[in-house]
Amino acid sequence: MKSYDLVIVGVGAMGSSALYHASRRGLKVLGIERFGEVPHEQGSHHGSTRIIRKAYFEHPGYVPLLLRAYELWEQLEREVDEKLIVKCGGLMIGSPTSEVVTGAILAAQRHELTYEVLSKQDVQRRYPFFALDDTQQAVFEPDAGYLFSELAVKAHVQQAIKAGAELKLGCQVAGWSKSGDGVEIQISGETVYADKLLLTVGAWAPNFIDKSRFQVERQVLHWFEPEEASTAGLPIYIVEEQDGSTFYGFPNIPLQGLKVAIHHGGENCTADTVDRVVHPADIKRMRFALSRRIPSLAASRLIKTSACMYTNTPDFHFIVGPHPEEENVILGLGYSGHGFKFSSVMGELLVKMALGENTIQVPEIFAPDRFAQAR
Ligand SMILES: Cc1cc2nc3c(=O)[nH]c(=O)nc-3n(C[C@H](O)[C@H](O)[C@H](O)COP(=O)(O)OP(=O)(O)OC[C@H]3O[C@@H](n4cnc5c(N)ncnc54)[C@H](O)[C@@H]3O)c2cc1C
Repeated sequence: MKSYDLVIVGVGAMGSSALYHASRRGLKVLGIERFGEVPHEQGSHHGSTRIIRKAYFEHPGYVPLLLRAYELWEQLEREVDEKLIVKCGGLMIGSPTSEVVTGAILAAQRHELTYEVLSKQDVQRRYPFFALDDTQQAVFEPDAGYLFSELAVKAHVQQAIKAGAELKLGCQVAGWSKSGDGVEIQISGETVYADKLLLTVGAWAPNFIDKSRFQVERQVLHWFEPEEASTAGLPIYIVEEQDGSTFYGFPNIPLQGLKVAIHHGGENCTADTVDRVVHPADIKRMRFALSRRIPSLAASRLIKTSACMYTNTPDFHFIVGPHPEEENVILGLGYSGHGFKFSSVMGELLVKMALGENTIQVPEIFAPDRFAQAR
């Protein structure tokens, strides 16, 4: 039986980064991916871009990880000599009591981040693209921007292989069992041994851990063709409406278009049954959301669409740490639709956990045992 220091199941956003960090630490590491190529369009990392920001409205406890994530993205960019991160600034738009506005200000103040509160008039002067209503304002964060997600996954894998990592593509892990001081991993037709096992299986998490911890949710991405002039100098943006519905978007990217999507509110599904067809009702919902805040875009030509999946936990915080019943199995799961920006630091953190190092402080909100019993 082949034996490894670390086996990583699932080589998507988190697994590719863990593979990179493990190989750089000199570990004998194997990454196993069920699909025949990485990156791919069946999981949660496709669709070209992902937002990155520091003034984290979801919880200020994420900010120290984000500061390290930025450093690691910039390091990876230098290594592969390719543009992976664009810091175009970011606008969180909502009422003064909305989660995006209050949460971003709280995180920025607690961690002394640079930010600016903009009135409706300020936003309209700087970005006539947006039509805020009288109850809305915005928090502007200059360091926010976006990552090229598939290029980032590709860069992590490429550098990991260069540093000696092994990668098995098109192999599905069926399960694992405790074995001596480590773990045996059952792959199609083969069993391998590892001192430590890392599970980064994204939307397939319910196949490995108690299903009640996860709800997979279908999400639809839309690319529109805006009027060029109206999109000059746009930041990324997240808009929270009075009814709690939220959408987000990116600047116009040459040859791609301007990508927007509704955050949450999609159908519950599983990774194997998700409806990958985008329907007229999906597009109608998107155009309605745009009609209120970006009227010029609402009527513009749709270039393409794509369906993707969020893997939500009950509290929308990540599940990161040792398996509650088996310390040799590390979980990096439940990224709840906001994990990509962290993947650079998440790989580093998960590998440190596997090695028993605790030099990165893990927020308590990630504790795997905060929900019902595992397995
Ligand atoms: C539409 C959309 C927009 C998003 N926008 C943002 C954003 O702007 N900013 C942000 O930070 N985050 C965003 N996210 C969230 C982010 O993309 C995810 O949190 C992140 O990709 C999750 O990474 P992962 O490694 O858990 O999953 P994935 O990248 O999907 O990787 C999991 C991998 O595990 C493999 N796998 C599963 N089961 C097995 C098995 N049994 N054997 C072998 N391999 C297996 C899968 O094939 C897959 O490759 C968005 C997500 C979506 C869907």
